[in-house]
Amino acid sequence: MSEKYDVVVIGAGPGGYVAAIRAAQLGLKTACIEEYVGKDGKQALGGTCLNVGCIPSKALLDSSWKFHEAQDGLALHGIETKGVSIDVPAMIDRKDKIVKQFTGGVASLFKANGVTSIEGHGKLLANKQVEVTAKDGTTTVIEAGNVILASGSRPIDIPPAPLTENIIVDSTSALDFQTTPQKLGVIGAGVIGLELGSVWRRLGAEVVVFEALDKFLSLADEQVAKEALKTFTKQGLQVRLGARVTGTEVKGEQVTVSFTDANGEQQLTFDKLIVAVGRRAYTENLLASDCGVDLDERGVIFVDDYCETSAPGVYAVGDAVRGPMLAHKSSEEGVMVAERIAGQKAAMNYDLVPSVIYTHPEIAWVGKNEQQLKAENVEVNIGVFPFAANGRAVAANETTGMVKVIADAKTDRVLGVHAIGPGAAELVQQGAIAMEFGTSAEDIGMMVFSHPTVSEALKEAALAVNGHAIHVANRKKR
Ligand code: FAD
Ligand code: AMP
Repeated sequence: MSEKYDVVVIGAGPGGYVAAIRAAQLGLKTACIEEYVGKDGKQALGGTCLNVGCIPSKALLDSSWKFHEAQDGLALHGIETKGVSIDVPAMIDRKDKIVKQFTGGVASLFKANGVTSIEGHGKLLANKQVEVTAKDGTTTVIEAGNVILASGSRPIDIPPAPLTENIIVDSTSALDFQTTPQKLGVIGAGVIGLELGSVWRRLGAEVVVFEALDKFLSLADEQVAKEALKTFTKQGLQVRLGARVTGTEVKGEQVTVSFTDANGEQQLTFDKLIVAVGRRAYTENLLASDCGVDLDERGVIFVDDYCETSAPGVYAVGDAVRGPMLAHKSSEEGVMVAERIAGQKAAMNYDLVPSVIYTHPEIAWVGKNEQQLKAENVEVNIGVFPFAANGRAVAANETTGMVKVIADAKTDRVLGVHAIGPGAAELVQQGAIAMEFGTSAEDIGMMVFSHPTVSEALKEAALAVNGHAIHVANRKKR
């Protein structure tokens, strides 16, 4: 007889591993199936996020920023640096060690919580049975009371830029360059394109980012996006808007990219080209035809507000379902589903999923932006506070950017917090905490903030909503 679990999770990314841990914590007999094999040839838990996403990209962003500072940012402080150099393989090695530490950490958490970790490929059959195919091709079937599909996503390929061994690459390979390319092309000015473009720009690459849309960072608040574009351009990232890549030709060690923009058909040649045009739900060989789980027209697993699929007792979370492809969105869905399976009334607040771009300066937001609220005819009051007027930011020479708080004009309830600047991600998270409790701008303005902190920019922006900012002239007088 095959083994029976209360919960079987397919995929051990942030959606799946968090769901598995929470389910086990709640006393459910839980197994998690993962097929990913790390650089050492062994199963690696943690999914895209830990292996080839959030964590490794942040490791390289931090290393490359330190190099950039050591080269160009320290003279101002009276610190002389000469002959600063970068050992790229050592930087990549450090990143790999961090990845290993974290993927191993998930394995330890599984042990500590009593989650059974199963190596292999999982496929949902009818009646909540799950077939596991091991590396050697042998298959077993396990029975599940409930199944959580957490198969994640893969990079999108586009026909004009088919991947090659090491010249036209996706985000995964771009985390492993062993030398800095002299000329780097990036297709797509989304979060991943901007973060990876920034890493290699800081290490000396000449970087051109092609973006088919005319608008930069179309999901961000327009004021923040404008400031970001200005800053990236100053940093030497050449962002070409309205530039659609139409073809590529690899010759020897280089690739020539054809693109069209307002000036017509053009070409540029690079040593490497990163294709970062987005990700798609990954559901290959995941669902037997009679398992009862529906996909939408884009291959995304169809779920309701609580992540239940069209098959009762089968749930799906993370990048494989609707919504933003973010690790924290995935893991919160994992927790919600595990708790619902355990009989709790869990729900998730999709209105307050923060977004972050880990460039320098960071860009982050939560809630709605000015243009969205305008389109919805919501009357708002807006407070903006520039980091140039924040003591801590000036002391650190991090004066680019601002915090923007948007509140409902009638109720003063905060509807959005947007930031570009030092610590933007952490600062917007403070806004998210406050918004979760239905805060008003006045509430944030009344709280005591430590001085000097960059967080004071949030307080001042909240005060500015009603014309009460102290350290900047108020647009609105009250
Ligand atoms: P995944 O993390 O993709 O995990 C799915 C797992 O399921 C994989 O390990 C896969 O091998 C396994 N799997 C799939 N099918 C099967 C099967 N049939 N059987 C067994 N195993 C299977 N998000 C952020 O929030 N912040 C960031 O800073 C950030 N940075 C990123 C940087 C990069 C370069 C990239 C590529 C992504 C980044 N993301 C970031 C996005 C984030 O990584 C994803 O949103 C997140 O990993 C999705 O989690 P998931 O659990 O849904 O899927
Ligand atoms: P994201 O989905 O946020 O990672 O962003 C990917 C970006 O790639 C989007 O803004 C797309 O407009 C852009 N994009 C997709 N295809 C092309 C292309 N052929 N040329 C240039 N940009 C593209």
